[in-house]
Amino acid sequence: MNQEHIVIIGNGISGVTAARHIRKLSDKKITIVSAETDYFFSRTALMYVYMGHMKFEHTQPYEPWFWKKNNITLKKAFVKNIDTSKKTLVFDGGETMNYDKLIVATGSKPNKFGWTGQDAEGVMGMYHKQDLENLEKHAPNNKVCKRAVIVGGGLIGIELAEMLVSRSIPVTFLVREKSFWSNILPKEESAMINKHILEHHIDLRLNTNLKEIKADENGKVKSIIIEETGEELSCNVVGLTAGVSPNIDFLKDSGITLGRGVKVNRFLETNVPDVYAIGDCAEQHEPIGERRVIEAVWYTGRMMGETVAQTLCGNRIAYQPGHWFNSAKFLDIEYQTYGWVWAEPKENEQHFYWKHESGKKSIRLSYDKNTHKFIGINNFGIRMRHEFFDKILTEKQSVEYVLEHLADANFDPEFYQLHEAEIVAKFNKENNTNIILTKKNWNRIFSIN
Ligand SMILES: Cc1cc2nc3c(=O)[nH]c(=O)nc-3n(C[C@H](O)[C@H](O)[C@H](O)COP(=O)(O)OP(=O)(O)OC[C@H]3O[C@@H](n4cnc5c(N)ncnc54)[C@H](O)[C@@H]3O)c2cc1C
Repeated sequence: MNQEHIVIIGNGISGVTAARHIRKLSDKKITIVSAETDYFFSRTALMYVYMGHMKFEHTQPYEPWFWKKNNITLKKAFVKNIDTSKKTLVFDGGETMNYDKLIVATGSKPNKFGWTGQDAEGVMGMYHKQDLENLEKHAPNNKVCKRAVIVGGGLIGIELAEMLVSRSIPVTFLVREKSFWSNILPKEESAMINKHILEHHIDLRLNTNLKEIKADENGKVKSIIIEETGEELSCNVVGLTAGVSPNIDFLKDSGITLGRGVKVNRFLETNVPDVYAIGDCAEQHEPIGERRVIEAVWYTGRMMGETVAQTLCGNRIAYQPGHWFNSAKFLDIEYQTYGWVWAEPKENEQHFYWKHESGKKSIRLSYDKNTHKFIGINNFGIRMRHEFFDKILTEKQSVEYVLEHLADANFDPEFYQLHEAEIVAKFNKENNTNIILTKKNWNRIFSIN
């Protein structure tokens, strides 16, 4: 009997996790197809390659022999289209490949909004390895690149700014919103990050849109025009970081139902039998709790990969991402969020905010006004334990409980200065409560301070 052939398009975290888990659970034939690189690498570590902290090879978690040893075939090719009636992939060279089961794990691509000049040389996203190579070519140092303009103030935009600043390249950062990431961050945190960006000598322009990109006679970017003022800014590099979208254009005529992403049910199944989608490119029909239908984050890609592997190996299970969490870095300020903290509290929600005198650390707790049930936390410059908040959210604990046990959440008390006593005192004052940190925690605070 022929072995079932599982083909995975995309060698990112979601596709590779699916392959590894299918291999753990079965001896099915597995092929991973990807056009970007020969081997899986950590996309989140791309910035550190440019910044000189690691070589590209170090971003690859598995040695090249790993794939052969685990009998996973890698094929470097771009899938041009899929004939789902014949279960066949067509590559850009015209070659074809048959599958029994197909997993689409093609990730995201940077948004381009049809700006004049967006395809000029020196204009790039910061997503694929090719973007990194492009950046290295056009912005090797501040002699070749006298100024870079970044368009779009999200998490990738600020990483790109940090990368360029590490090579002393002047950066102008165009942000459409009135304050940095203000659709996600409450106004105090957003203001803290605005200030932090400016302190890094980045020319942050809020409420500012790109009108067009101008190229010289060789097709190379030479300037940009700002929509609101008409100002022309000379530059050698333009980074387009105005969000990402699912990378699914090649599926247009496949018969697979598409929305913004590949539409899937909770089992990560598409409308076409034996075709699944996972990671950044998958779009849930219905939101899971408060979560977005498309979540372009690393750990959800990994979870979906694990889930679909179970289903393909005979144990059909639903995708259950659990409580929302995320982390990022705004230059050197670390950010973590657990549960839900909206930019504006919802009607039933109350926020408690504490900011350290340095202006570089803060926490915000969100809780239910009436029941005091803890809803979520934002941390800036203070690292707290994921397991702690995951447990607290599952147990539906109160905000008072969280504050009493705050010291237990500290990621590394030996390393991170403790602020729990100050935080609890502020909460008590504002709310006329008498929360006391548990004795164990007090001992820890006194022994360290
Ligand atoms: C600079 C940067 C920093 C980030 N930092 C964080 C972070 O700190 N935390 C976090 O949670 N997330 C972060 N992310 C997001 C995270 O990297 C993504 O959510 C994750 O990589 C998505 O994984 P994926 O497997 O779905 O897709 P991808 O990693 O995008 O992999 C998909 C692969 O499929 C290939 N492909 C696409 N179409 C085809 C085709 N037709 N034929 C063949 N191959 C194809 C692509 O070239 C790509 O190699 C970051 C992203 C970027 C760009």
